[in-house]
Amino acid sequence: MMTKTISILGSTGSIGRQTLDVCRQLGVRVAALAAGSDAGRMEAQCREFRPALAVLADAARAEELKTRLADINIRVASGGEGLLEAAALPEADTVVAAISGFACLAPTLAAVREHKRVALANKETMVCAGELVMAEVRRCGAELIPVDSEHSAIFQCLMGCRDRSEVRRLILTCSGGPFFGRSREALARVTKADALRHPNWSMGPKITVDCATLMNKGLEIIEAMRLYGLPLSQVTAVVHRQSVVHSLVEFRDGAVLAQLGTPDMRLPIRFALTYPNRAENPATPLDLFACGPLTFEPIDESAFSCFALAKEAAKRGGTACAVMNGANEAAVGLFLQEKIGFSDIPDAVLAAMQAIPARQNPSLGDIFEADRAARCAVFEKFR
Ligand code: NAD
Ligand code: MG
Repeated sequence: MMTKTISILGSTGSIGRQTLDVCRQLGVRVAALAAGSDAGRMEAQCREFRPALAVLADAARAEELKTRLADINIRVASGGEGLLEAAALPEADTVVAAISGFACLAPTLAAVREHKRVALANKETMVCAGELVMAEVRRCGAELIPVDSEHSAIFQCLMGCRDRSEVRRLILTCSGGPFFGRSREALARVTKADALRHPNWSMGPKITVDCATLMNKGLEIIEAMRLYGLPLSQVTAVVHRQSVVHSLVEFRDGAVLAQLGTPDMRLPIRFALTYPNRAENPATPLDLFACGPLTFEPIDESAFSCFALAKEAAKRGGTACAVMNGANEAAVGLFLQEKIGFSDIPDAVLAAMQAIPARQNPSLGDIFEADRAARCAVFEKFR
């Protein structure tokens, strides 16, 4: 069913703002907007889209927002409670989960439990608790539509596939990031400014650093395993510098299907809102004569060890993925504050994975505990 009313978690971020762009194009109404702390941008979004509820996780900024919005009738809430309320608001049929990091897990589950259509941009949720989330999606009769461009591409390629056992493997494409081709030694010298310069996409700072370490592709391998119920052996990734082929599915008979397009997140966002239909899009479509040759190369796993570490966590299973992810989030945070170097990121992830044993068949509580322990291990290491 085409989305009529939406709630956006992470509305002030890169995906959130592009989602509002798509809402403008499609005439989708907005029920709730939620974000971290940007009161100024939230005010502007509220004035334009007039949601019933606006949430900022930061309590002081939420108070500021209340003052800014005193002249209009919009309820303002704050904190984790506020995020859950925004996720579950009855008026919305679709919830876009676009808060960055592990913080998106609880509100995403809340939306699933209200059997919403969840347009899932956040990948950390599937990495840490994908098996649990998928079980809840089935139990509650919710709909989970991926927004991450690779997973949206695979979702589209699988639309005519009635029998999952016909899939031989999923092939994720990877831009290679700003440091493609560099050695491990050269990577040790890159700065924050270098890492924030992504060749093809404009995204939030955390995912941009993940694209530079290739952790992003490791996270996406796990995200694909969880979304499509496939083992690690059936999910691979290749470097494709042009970001035109968004991902591919190889079937049992050798047929390979791919989805192509210009690198613009508004396409997978809009598809998640209009699915199973497609709506007229004003954007300029892919020009096959102008996009140049399309190339495919292997990932250098020894230089980009974050990619290998994520696959190792996938092999271990249980809470290992939450530990890997929590350590990575903490380390990327320190790197963005310029407190540690680029190569400290994989070192921190490895150390946390070595120190914290994986627990199999984890509960949600176990996953939160694994995330917390991993962050603590990283802060201890660099204290
Ligand atoms: P961003 O940093 O630009 O935006 C993050 C949003 O989340 C902001 O609105 C911020 O206020 C909010 N937020 C952060 N921490 C919060 C907290 N603790 N509580 C409440 N709100 C909080 O990030 P982004 O690039 O938009 O990415 C969002 C998610 O989508 C990430 O999980 C990312 O991996 C995924 N994703 C992004 C892209 C992209 O092109 N940007 C592509 C694929 C997947
Ligand atoms: Mg992606």
